[in-house]
Amino acid sequence: MSYDGDKRARRTTLLPYGKQWLDEDDMAAVRAVLESDYITQGPAIERFERKVADYVGAKYAVAFANGTAALHGACFAAGIGPGDEVITTPITFLASSNCVLYMGGRPVFADIDPRTYNLDPDRAAERITPATKAIIPVDLAGQPAEMDRIVMLARDRGLVVIHDAAHSLGASYGGRKVGTLGDMTMFSFHPVKHITTGEGGMIVTDYEEYYRKLILFRNHGMTRDPDMLQSFDGPWYYEMHALGFNYRMTDIQAALGHSQMDKLDKFIARRREIASAYNAAFSEMDGLVTPWQHPSAESSWHLYILRWDLPKFHADRRAIFEALRERNIGVNVHYIPVYWQPYYRSIGYSGIVCTNAESYYASSMSLPIFPRMTDRDVQDVIDAVQDVWELFVRQ
Ligand SMILES: *Cc1c(COP(=O)(O)O)cnc(C)c1O
Repeated sequence: MSYDGDKRARRTTLLPYGKQWLDEDDMAAVRAVLESDYITQGPAIERFERKVADYVGAKYAVAFANGTAALHGACFAAGIGPGDEVITTPITFLASSNCVLYMGGRPVFADIDPRTYNLDPDRAAERITPATKAIIPVDLAGQPAEMDRIVMLARDRGLVVIHDAAHSLGASYGGRKVGTLGDMTMFSFHPVKHITTGEGGMIVTDYEEYYRKLILFRNHGMTRDPDMLQSFDGPWYYEMHALGFNYRMTDIQAALGHSQMDKLDKFIARRREIASAYNAAFSEMDGLVTPWQHPSAESSWHLYILRWDLPKFHADRRAIFEALRERNIGVNVHYIPVYWQPYYRSIGYSGIVCTNAESYYASSMSLPIFPRMTDRDVQDVIDAVQDVWELFVRQ
């Protein structure tokens, strides 16, 4: 065999693409709540909401059981319903468009910008019809979408912007932190995201009207607010004003999130360091496309997406992917175009084509990136990519 890709020692354990970082102070914060009077619906929720709102510079924040529930809440607050269309990107996690379906609305997929892989504002503009009610841009990998152009488009047409910032807590665009660029902004606290609460999500907004609706939606549509009650039978009295859900976060989770927030900047700094190391290693290698950054965007690097210019290799994406997995590098693919999902096909999306999204999907993969990676881990990824490149590149 002429294959000599094993010059370097292989890792013996799988390096995942993302992972949480929990310290003693996180454990202590959780323990303190467990020993307190409230493990849900207590004071830790508001403390965590205030901390995230202050960090991003938003007026209001509403914590949810997870990011998907938060997106559902945002679609409710935006008034999405049957007959309404909402424009989003096909290169995202299922929740970005499922939330529209939950409300009886219709997601409309517009193609991505081939450089950033985010929703292309020009393609989004082409998909606007009289039925369009909102746009859901997604900050893929932590790089903010072109929010200035998307918001301008939305203002012109009277659309709500629900910003899916599950990947971009701590990122900024045009010098402004993600959190107030759209009308409502969603963060997720799943363990692979920037900070974690186990499961958890949040909407931040500057608008009191949305805030009130989100609070209502999170708790069965119930209110005890004297300003909102239609009558008053006594101190026990409550009213249901909308069909809400039980989408509450626990105080246990909120305490963890509050403690994690203290380390967010450190986490992001380490992610940026790892991304720079990858860029330095790969940018001169023929056939590899490192993540292009929009001049207005400062990514918080939830993912590091590497593209392979496949005609330059005698391997397809799957062979490259499997060769990296064989070397215990936990590469992943984010994401399969949503409209290809069997469920979406079954509800009328089988004729959709977004050319840029499909060619992106065919040639991309995410490399491991998370703050607790050691320099050795980073070097293992670089070595493995170089090995696989040598193995498959056409000379
Ligand atoms: C993680 C994620 C969500 C949903 O968040 P959960 O907390 O897992 O429900 C939504 N959109 C995108 C782009 C995500 O990555």
